[in-house]
Amino acid sequence: MGTRSQKQSNKEQEPLRFETKLLHFGGEIDRATGASSVPIYQASTFHHDDVFNPPLHDYSRSGNPTRQALEDYIAILEGGARGFAYSSGMAAISSSFMLLSAGDHMIVTEDVYGGTYRLLTSILNRMGIETTFVDMTDLNEVKAAWKPNTKAVYIETPSNPTLKITDVAAVTEWAKEHELLTLLDNTFMTPYYQRPIEFGVDIVIHSATKFLGGHSDVLAGLAVARTHELGERLKALQNGLGTVLGVQDSWLLMRGMKTLSARMAHSEQSAAKLAAWLQGRSDIERVYYPGLLNHPGREVHEKQASGYGAVVSFDVGSGERAKQVLNKVQLPLVAVSLGAVESILSYPAMMSHAAMGETVRHERGITDGLLRFSVGLEDIDDLIADLDQALRA
Ligand SMILES: *Cc1c(COP(=O)(O)O)cnc(C)c1O
Repeated sequence: MGTRSQKQSNKEQEPLRFETKLLHFGGEIDRATGASSVPIYQASTFHHDDVFNPPLHDYSRSGNPTRQALEDYIAILEGGARGFAYSSGMAAISSSFMLLSAGDHMIVTEDVYGGTYRLLTSILNRMGIETTFVDMTDLNEVKAAWKPNTKAVYIETPSNPTLKITDVAAVTEWAKEHELLTLLDNTFMTPYYQRPIEFGVDIVIHSATKFLGGHSDVLAGLAVARTHELGERLKALQNGLGTVLGVQDSWLLMRGMKTLSARMAHSEQSAAKLAAWLQGRSDIERVYYPGLLNHPGREVHEKQASGYGAVVSFDVGSGERAKQVLNKVQLPLVAVSLGAVESILSYPAMMSHAAMGETVRHERGITDGLLRFSVGLEDIDDLIADLDQALRA
């Protein structure tokens, strides 16, 4: 252990690169036994050997060593002061929104995740928290939405499912002038490609159910606070609301996260190939992928992210054709969700965005022919051949 701690002090002198940090995040070796993974502390409470000298953790809602290792892990990856793990992405989002109070107003990107939209418009509105949805690719719209009671800005970039890009530095710079809290849902990019805290964002949120977990087998959420002060406030909310992640899922999530860079790099290469192939077809109306040369947000995206991700959306022309493709594909899961080792093909109009009124849905480019392809680790030529036969059917 002595040489290991020696190495660790060297690490401080030369910062480790992201891919190395994924494996050497500080909690990779059990201090007590040297075991090669964090133990699962399946315990709800902790014995006080001396009541005057309480143990580090006293009750697992307030803190558990397995969950703590995960929380430290995501904080390191995002470059924030403190991390938190929740029972789902929505638990991370709703807990973070509890930083606001009745009478507060929030500016939110209009193509926010469907569950977040529902939370804001059917639950938080009843608690006196007001929201204005704006096209966040246009900073003027963001500015125009400001009111004296505005307290926060909520960003998602790239957005779902049409992959619109928000200029994170520009929005946070303006938000800071007005002393607004900035929150960003980083689910699609993950810290492998995009670390919003480096651009001034206060709280980064993940549905870790997607790329971070990566195997369609665990539901989890994560949040990272930029400062210790904000971390303290999030900690009080996580403990007060009880929205914590269980220890088995905490362990499973860490296991998935260790391979994040390998999975993302492979899937991105395949996604780029798929996007180019789709764009070359005359029977596809539109392709949405930030890596395409004609993507309107490409330049902004390249300022704030080091890659384009693994999600490609495309319009096959009609609802009838979209349903035919969904029923004919053999390889991808046909399902909601994304970001897994297996490819997942979704139909936003009837799945993630089914609750949205048709007019609003169409205005936001979520047409009846739109499909969203989350590219997994299969051989891309097999995926393309499969999609080709489904499109021809
Ligand atoms: C899935 C998802 C969520 C919600 O996360 P859950 O883990 O399903 O609760 C939030 N934001 C984005 C972008 C998502 O894709």
